[in-house]
Amino acid sequence: DKTIAIIGAGLAGTEAALQLASRGFGVSLYEMRPETGTPVHVTGRCAELVCSNSLKSTKPESAAGMLKAELAALGSFAYAAALETRVAAGGALAVDRDAFSSALDQSVRRHPNIEVIEGEVESLSLVSRSADAVVVASGPLTTDALAQELSSITGSDRLSFFDAAAPIVMADSIDYGKVFRQSRYEDGGEGPGGQGDYLNAPFTREEYERFAYALLEAERVIQRDFEAKDLFQACQPIEEIMRKGIDAPRFGPLKPVGLTDPRTGRRPYAALQLRAENAEMTAYNLVGFQTNLRFPEQKRVFSMIPGLERAEFARFGVMHRNTFIDAPHLLDSNLALRGAALGGVPIYVAGQLGGTEGYCEAIRSGLHCALAIAARFKGIEPPELPAETAFGALLRYATDPQTEGYQPMHVNFGIMPPLSERVRNKGLRYAAYAKRGAEALAGYVRILESEGLLERDGC
Ligand code: FAD
Repeated sequence: DKTIAIIGAGLAGTEAALQLASRGFGVSLYEMRPETGTPVHVTGRCAELVCSNSLKSTKPESAAGMLKAELAALGSFAYAAALETRVAAGGALAVDRDAFSSALDQSVRRHPNIEVIEGEVESLSLVSRSADAVVVASGPLTTDALAQELSSITGSDRLSFFDAAAPIVMADSIDYGKVFRQSRYEDGGEGPGGQGDYLNAPFTREEYERFAYALLEAERVIQRDFEAKDLFQACQPIEEIMRKGIDAPRFGPLKPVGLTDPRTGRRPYAALQLRAENAEMTAYNLVGFQTNLRFPEQKRVFSMIPGLERAEFARFGVMHRNTFIDAPHLLDSNLALRGAALGGVPIYVAGQLGGTEGYCEAIRSGLHCALAIAARFKGIEPPELPAETAFGALLRYATDPQTEGYQPMHVNFGIMPPLSERVRNKGLRYAAYAKRGAEALAGYVRILESEGLLERDGC
């Protein structure tokens, strides 16, 4: 007899709706399309893919592959639809986008427990009046009125309209013979065991100039019209700073002041700082290197940075128009807004608006949120998702209040807890992450089944 209002029939909202409806809950699914469009959606169907038709790698020993194994084990409806509408794409799962969204659209509209309510939601309080829980899954292009209301609930400094993420590299792929640990203006120790919060990659003048010219010539992503006009006003990508003059980054993200290279005893000509992404220091981000370069170009050009020659990229930099909340300071591990309820009705935030990045991540987030709601109305604590699983790692990272300056993130090995033993070979290391994740997932699934939150063979 509980009704859940879901705002947005995108990837997260559609998955959440089908999960909740299949467990007997009533769902009011609010979707503004086709009446009100977004700059990228072109149909009025549920679960439209807005860009590529690829749902990324299926390789079991990859973070994207681990995520798919979770979707399969938890009975994801969108994942099942993707398998049914699959088209050939080598090692990736790509779909016929129309068949994919049509299949899910029909499942939603034919479901006796789901009512699709067309039109833009401008007020959460109105929606919450006739619901027992609200899921906001309105995505990266959430409309202005709804974004404004969200920001009044969460605080205006907790909502962003652009992501400008710097690349992240795996800690064990950095050359510690070249970088040194030191905070600016502080005495540092030597090598990775030194003091200070940052790793510093020092450039000689020659290395800097070679890097600068490569950066200036590198190929960039072409922004969509709706993004181009204000994106760069919000944040300057490193290549744009370089375009102002070859020395401009040396007064910005590559400034060497306050640093002394312990190997030379001198200040480097320029230096990139790398900051740990997580408490275990398994991944580092390139501070101030927001970028709009194409991914292969990021790999080519940023590998010219001293110490990053063999860097493995856990995530490449991106710049998008993207509405998202400051998840680490707002969401709990069930994706509910901490301490915020409208007239006693809890509010959950799923999908990209809640700080995930990527199609499968949005689907998984909708699924996670639905499981949490199902547990809540059963009167039980939702079982904790182990951090060793792909989404568990993302969830832990994205809801850790220690994470500052959060930018939406996709699943990757860099945010997973380190392995108990160091595995040098990359292939074997990834296989070890996948094996450990599969075991953790199996345990989680068993708990869900014993709590009656998941049927034995998925949903
Ligand atoms: P969406 O799928 O966007 O769903 C949100 C839904 O909410 C939409 O249907 C929208 O119409 C509706 N809505 C919004 N506001 C309201 C309102 N006020 N009232 C009612 N309904 C509302 N990820 C990838 O993995 N691969 C890619 O190629 C990719 N390309 C992207 C390209 C762009 C331009 C953008 C912006 C993002 C891209 N992403 C990509 C990131 C992300 O995976 C997708 O945006 C994904 O669709 C997010 O899922 P979602 O469910 O959070 O939001």
